[in-house]
Amino acid sequence: MAHTNAPQPSTIAAQSDRSFFGHPRGLATLFFTEMWERFSYYGMRAILVLFMTTATVDGGLGFTKADAAITYGLYTSLVFLLPVLGGWLADKFLGMQRAVLYGGIVIMIGHILLAMHGVATFYAGLASVVIGTGLLKPNISGIVGQLYSEEDRRRDSGFSIFYMGINLGACSAPLVCGWLAQDPRFRSMLQSWGIDPANSWHFGFGAAAVGMFFGLLQYVITGRHLGNAGRSPAVEPTAEARAKARQTLGIGTAVIVLVIAGLLTWAFNKSEPVTKADVNGVYTWILFGSVGAFFAWLLTSAAWKPLERRRLVVVFVLFLGSCVFWSVFEQAGSTLTFFADERTRNSIFGWSFASSWWQSVNAGLVVLCAPLFAWIWAKLDNFDRSSMIRFAIGIFFVGLGFAILIGGALASEGGERASPGWLFSCYLCHSIGELCLSPVGLSSMTRLAPQRVQGTMLGVWFVSISVGTFLGSQVAGVYEEFTKVNLDTGAPAGGGLADLFKAVAFGALAMTVIMAILARPVAKLIDAKK
Ligand code: GLN
Repeated sequence: MAHTNAPQPSTIAAQSDRSFFGHPRGLATLFFTEMWERFSYYGMRAILVLFMTTATVDGGLGFTKADAAITYGLYTSLVFLLPVLGGWLADKFLGMQRAVLYGGIVIMIGHILLAMHGVATFYAGLASVVIGTGLLKPNISGIVGQLYSEEDRRRDSGFSIFYMGINLGACSAPLVCGWLAQDPRFRSMLQSWGIDPANSWHFGFGAAAVGMFFGLLQYVITGRHLGNAGRSPAVEPTAEARAKARQTLGIGTAVIVLVIAGLLTWAFNKSEPVTKADVNGVYTWILFGSVGAFFAWLLTSAAWKPLERRRLVVVFVLFLGSCVFWSVFEQAGSTLTFFADERTRNSIFGWSFASSWWQSVNAGLVVLCAPLFAWIWAKLDNFDRSSMIRFAIGIFFVGLGFAILIGGALASEGGERASPGWLFSCYLCHSIGELCLSPVGLSSMTRLAPQRVQGTMLGVWFVSISVGTFLGSQVAGVYEEFTKVNLDTGAPAGGGLADLFKAVAFGALAMTVIMAILARPVAKLIDAKK
């Protein structure tokens, strides 16, 4: 899949092209496309759970926090799951350039639907963003990889620049979309224009659509700079290969249709109406069932030599570590946003800001700290053997973030809002964790796995984020339970938020210890010659 495609002829020409910070001009095209795509994604994510939990009279959907968390969890989990299909489709049929274009269009339509008023358009909008991101996200990174020939030493720094684009989009989006959706100053502007201020949410989602539109416009206008990178499907398919791919597509589509038909039949015949919790349960089975089956196949397949199989065990351990990491990290849009909105004093130096603005902090810190971390990692060599340690450190830091937030939960227990310092420190730890684990995650998985399953490894990486995101949403799902107050005593009835944060921190720290203990045996496995 994406990163593994052989460089095409254009990359040879690209080697002499240094027009974008010493990199091929095509990188600028991809940088800005991804910047705007991430702008739209994170702008929407900044306000998503807040919109869902806001009362209908105030323009929201009036969901409980538990239902909002389930919706958020399913949605974000699918956003990271569908790229597995998107990468495959581009490889076999579309070519990456076209997949990015179609994906961007579908994403924009999704945000337009979200900007409309109504529950049906809301779900249709989320589904479109899921499908569009599945097409765009893996393939845009794939094209970045194809801009460079195998020997081109600028490849890694090209990816670092691209990562900056992601984070610039992710950092600026909540400021814009969050301000439009939540800020009282914008609401009074709406009022003065004769528009019901409860519609402010739709302006937030609308801004995400406009962002994606800019990204698309830019992609189309400057697309010629990509040359042949990702233009056609990966392997020049023989008639036989094409027929096989079509057959797989047919069977895959039939399975999906059957599963959906089965679920609908179940839903219609159920005596009670289907709740979001039911959907959550079904999705849990599907997700974990397929992941379990996949790894069972991967680890037991007869095709591997003994050394390959041992390394795939390492991939599995890294997969588990990655799931835990993202399960904590991806609560930025759910648990941490609830905490920002209800428990944090959202002001600095007397100047107040929208609670969704907190979602800019991580990306902003990553932009600021990435050069420092790149320098640190360049100083430390022995890349493969240290990947477990870096995973352990990454997971330690996300856990530490929640451990720190226990202080914020306790400080806000009596009804007073906690200092912004708590949430800021939490996000700082999460950003350090991301800079430890994220850059090394995908590359160590692909380096460990046999050459012929490189594409599958990109999928494994995305699936780990998907599983993690879903697990994290289960924590957000019980947030409300933990904040219940005993009406007689005024004391927390659900154990208090501090207990919930303790459980998350403990889980992450336990995984840190497991990864640290396994680091040595894993290094031995990696070093073994056969
Ligand atoms: N912030 C990065 C992105 O959106 C990484 C997020 C993730 O992999 N979960 O691409």
